[in-house]
Amino acid sequence: METILFLAATEPDGSLAPAALEALGAARSLAAALAGCSLTVGLQGPSVQTAADRIAGCGATRFLGVAGPDFGSARYASDALAAEALVRASQATVVVAPGTSRLSRCLPGVAQRTGGQADTHVTALGARESRPFVNRWYYRQRMEAVVQRTQRPWIVLIDPGSQSPWDGPPGGAVAVEMIDVTLPEAARKTSVVGVRAPAADAQTIRPDADLLFVAGAGWTKKQADGQARVVEAEQIILEFLKRSRASLGSTKSLVDLGGEGQTVLSFLSHLNQIGQTGATPRHPKGLSTCCHGEEPHTVGWRFINERRAISLDPNCGWARGKADVLYVADAFAVMREVNRLLAANA
Ligand SMILES: Cc1cc2nc3c(=O)[nH]c(=O)nc-3n(C[C@H](O)[C@H](O)[C@H](O)COP(=O)(O)OP(=O)(O)OC[C@H]3O[C@@H](n4cnc5c(N)ncnc54)[C@H](O)[C@@H]3O)c2cc1C
Repeated sequence: METILFLAATEPDGSLAPAALEALGAARSLAAALAGCSLTVGLQGPSVQTAADRIAGCGATRFLGVAGPDFGSARYASDALAAEALVRASQATVVVAPGTSRLSRCLPGVAQRTGGQADTHVTALGARESRPFVNRWYYRQRMEAVVQRTQRPWIVLIDPGSQSPWDGPPGGAVAVEMIDVTLPEAARKTSVVGVRAPAADAQTIRPDADLLFVAGAGWTKKQADGQARVVEAEQIILEFLKRSRASLGSTKSLVDLGGEGQTVLSFLSHLNQIGQTGATPRHPKGLSTCCHGEEPHTVGWRFINERRAISLDPNCGWARGKADVLYVADAFAVMREVNRLLAANA
């Protein structure tokens, strides 16, 4: 019989991020699929009571916590010790955690310390013949595998954006069994002295956005009048992002142009690249503009549900089954009109 531990790190204000609530939803559905197993909650962070109270009604039979200023910031040494203590105290056989950068960094090490195994980038989990399984994509999201393991504890990191977050009613005050973890001096060597983040408007990658807007190399190419119109392209795209709050993606060709010394959109970096050698984000909708829709790019659209594209070329990749709707049109003209409509409806 399995014992499932939902493991998460709390935010600086003591709450749980959406990715953690997604992992909780996944842990609950696994518990429901495995008859007779129990669900335990393990929280680590600066404080854990607020988060525990928020999810008191999730059906867990035990709540465990490791809390204190030492566990406030992401740091491998302290995060791994806290997680290890929670895994051991819960006697978990399956650990379900959000695949955030913080936990993805330390949980494989915890699997090593506890004699278990870890699987990252899990997009679904369930049970077959009373045994848990997970789904995971390989080869840049081209192949999907179902994985079962016999080794325990089995630590499973859930890809954010792949699950419905648990949204149960707040349950009230819950008794959290606090575990005392004393850090050796060696685990305190690294400290976070500050956070440098771009201003909210300069941050163009927005994982929670409803829409992914992709800019392709066509925005920088010579247009019908023989001129490239990069400054105008920048203005149109930035205005659209400001009004729609969409997340900005790019093609490899466009971001590479900057590295080759050509004029490109100033707010793009390789982090915006979608595709085989870029990111595979999850958004309900996507709009591709001035992009040819080639396979190495569109493989990054695997998890975009509703796809539209604007390209001058009626034979582009989007027209070959990669988009639901292709507008064979000038993206400059279309996006200017979209911006006008957004401004009129603001
Ligand atoms: C191993 C490998 C890995 C790769 N990985 C990636 C990856 O991760 N991501 C990625 O994106 N690519 C990747 N590529 C490159 C990919 O194959 C394409 O070369 C790239 O995606 C093309 O970018 P693009 O569509 O922006 O540019 P282009 O192919 O130049 O297409 C520009 C498009 O813009 C259109 N256009 C021009 N002006 C307008 C206008 N005014 N209005 C509307 N449309 C207009 C044109 O008709 C054209 O269709 C990879 C390639 C290889 C070999």
